Amino acid sequence: MEIKRKVRPIAQILNERCDGNPWCPSMRVCPIGAIKVKESRGLIMKKVVLEVDENKCTGCGKCLNYCAHQAIRIT
Ligand code: SF4
Repeated sequence: MEIKRKVRPIAQILNERCDGNPWCPSMRVCPIGAIKVKESRGLIMKKVVLEVDENKCTGCGKCLNYCAHQAIRIT
């Protein structure tokens, strides 16, 4: 018999919605720094690609309220 492991909820960045702001408020508000810059592009008009460290994220949902583009969801 297969035992299913309960997976805890974590934040997920929706890159198609994210505006790539290098000063992302959601990244700055995360109490444990679970949102990181994965990739940085451009010299003058800098854009970033963000990712969530699945090992750190507690799924608290605080970052959701700071994203103006609804680019984060808890899954
Ligand atoms: S859900 Fe909480 S812990 Fe996870 S990235 Fe958002 S603010 Fe950080």
